[in-house]
Amino acid sequence: MRIGVLSIQGSVAEHLAALSKCGVEAVPVKDADTLKKVQGLILPGGESTTIGKLLKRFGLGDAIKKAKIPLYGTCAGAILMAQEILNDVPEYSLDMMDITICRNAYGAQQESFVIDLEVPIFGKKKVPAYFIRAPKIVRVGKGCEVLAKLKKDPVLVRQGNLLVSTFHPELTEDLRVHRYFVEMCR
Ligand code: GLN
Repeated sequence: MRIGVLSIQGSVAEHLAALSKCGVEAVPVKDADTLKKVQGLILPGGESTTIGKLLKRFGLGDAIKKAKIPLYGTCAGAILMAQEILNDVPEYSLDMMDITICRNAYGAQQESFVIDLEVPIFGKKKVPAYFIRAPKIVRVGKGCEVLAKLKKDPVLVRQGNLLVSTFHPELTEDLRVHRYFVEMCR
């Protein structure tokens, strides 16, 4: 199985490493031809305005929408997948998942934090989660399954073959979120 990581900007190398540790072939995706060869795609964190602009410029955004493969967006990737974005809306986004997300909702970079998160589907052992200038998911549509919450806010959400997290599992040694996504791609 081959899974891609959108390789425009952001934490690309960390996602590639996590996928490799899950035992799949991990490939950076920069163009529509490479996209055709992967069974799933991770959209990494970074700066959603920048990634959005380049997705449009390279024509890769439309290719991703048409590919109909499982997608996993972390942080900025989650913002780009949302159907509704609040607070400094990027000029281009993929507009795919039935959620509303508010950018930079925890404050500036120095308000970033790491916390042990309860994720019921993964059992008792908590998941270490880095929130880096993270967005907040403020609404989820009917077809969405909330897999984890931080206080009242959904932070890991699935809708069919789309998965988003507002935190960064690729910055830890815990592979459970990546393994979960790999299973979605089978
Ligand atoms: N603050 C970034 C944005 O709004 C997201 C941060 C991240 O991906 N860690 O695009």
